[in-house]
Amino acid sequence: MNETSRAGRFDAAVVGGGVVGASAAYCLSRAGLRVVLIEAGAVASGASGAAAGMLGAQLEVEEPGPLLALALRGRRLFDTLVPALEEATGLSLGYRPEGIVRVALDEEGAQVLHATAKQQEALGLRARWVEAADLASVLGLPEPPRVEGAVLLEEDGQIEPEALTAALIASAPHLRLMLGRQAVSIRPAARGWSVDLAGGASVEADRVLLATGCGSGPLLSGLGVRLSVPPVKGEMLVLQGPTPLRRTVFGPGAYLVPKASGRLYLGATMEPGATDTAPSLAGSRMLLDGGVRLFDALWPGGAPGLRIAGWRVGLRPGSPDGLPILGPVPGHRGLFVATGHLRNGILLGPVSGWLLSAWMQGSDPLVALEEATGADLPPAAHLDDLAPFLPDRLAR
Ligand SMILES: Cc1cc2nc3c(=O)[nH]c(=O)nc-3n(C[C@H](O)[C@H](O)[C@H](O)COP(=O)(O)OP(=O)(O)OC[C@H]3O[C@@H](n4cnc5c(N)ncnc54)[C@H](O)[C@@H]3O)c2cc1C
Repeated sequence: MNETSRAGRFDAAVVGGGVVGASAAYCLSRAGLRVVLIEAGAVASGASGAAAGMLGAQLEVEEPGPLLALALRGRRLFDTLVPALEEATGLSLGYRPEGIVRVALDEEGAQVLHATAKQQEALGLRARWVEAADLASVLGLPEPPRVEGAVLLEEDGQIEPEALTAALIASAPHLRLMLGRQAVSIRPAARGWSVDLAGGASVEADRVLLATGCGSGPLLSGLGVRLSVPPVKGEMLVLQGPTPLRRTVFGPGAYLVPKASGRLYLGATMEPGATDTAPSLAGSRMLLDGGVRLFDALWPGGAPGLRIAGWRVGLRPGSPDGLPILGPVPGHRGLFVATGHLRNGILLGPVSGWLLSAWMQGSDPLVALEEATGADLPPAAHLDDLAPFLPDRLAR
């Protein structure tokens, strides 16, 4: 008996158990659809399990435009999503909407930071310049750090990416979870789509979402669709020890993210084209160089004693134009894709799930977005066209 006859048909199949697939599966199953989630490894075993979990809408997207609007809406979604998930699962998601501090270590960097803060304020976003003397209390440091400038992006924050992904899946009613099952091809079926799994079984569904991160291209190429999702390898060091750092600090060559677990993430490298997920000597060296400079600036009297507890390494799914790839696959009714989130998949994962869930149910994704994220947002969060994210801008 194959998987199809055992499992029956599904209304929707989601391939990929990272934060993006988990978010879509959560929305679809809460809407009453029978959903199966197919994941080659374990939940969050791809980039989502390697991320720092910064929710850096203002940190990461400086220019006004569709990506900033999506990022601001994505950030807003966490305010309602996290309490709902924590209540449903009893898990703590480590959500800390306490701001992210950008620091400049030289005069030139400070000028750039100043200009960025002014630009963000002009867009109606909160970006507060912080003098070095005040930065000690903002960050919980024993003495004023040696920085040339700092800006507190008050509404950015952070979360535990693995806990978020696990909670989305645990809160999805009646979700059928197939872990350790790799999808090897997708083909049209008599009704909808058939997803063929390694080992010979297949799953049928009316619509299919590929939320397969860097693995999206190969599955689509079997249908004659060429979609480039270039991987960008990222490495972080996990530090352990007394870390009296109250907020995430983003410096010129490195960032530090203090986690609820007491760990401190020192990130991150960007290595386009690499396809392995092994920690490298070159990566660690780059992180240590940037990290030491940041430590010396933040703790001029001597950095706290920290030891290296491990690495987090993953492949960020990129896109040729730097924007996420979200929506229907052109020419293949009932087939959808959500990938290309690069450095911001944790921030944008839930909002992408909301959009895809609406598309897959035949409803208006912009209406769903507005309902989920509210109307009381600054003009920079205004989004009335999803065309910049559609796969048809890239798929050939
Ligand atoms: C070092 C590092 C730091 C980062 N920091 C941040 C941060 O602070 N904030 C932020 O917002 N983002 C951050 N990111 C980016 C973020 O991790 C990604 O953008 C995001 O996780 C992408 O999510 P995803 O669900 O699309 O992909 P993934 O998490 O990679 O999930 C895709 C899943 O699909 C599965 N899959 C692939 N092919 C198949 C197949 N054929 N069959 C079945 N399953 C398949 C994979 O096993 C994988 O689990 C960071 C990334 C890295 C590497």
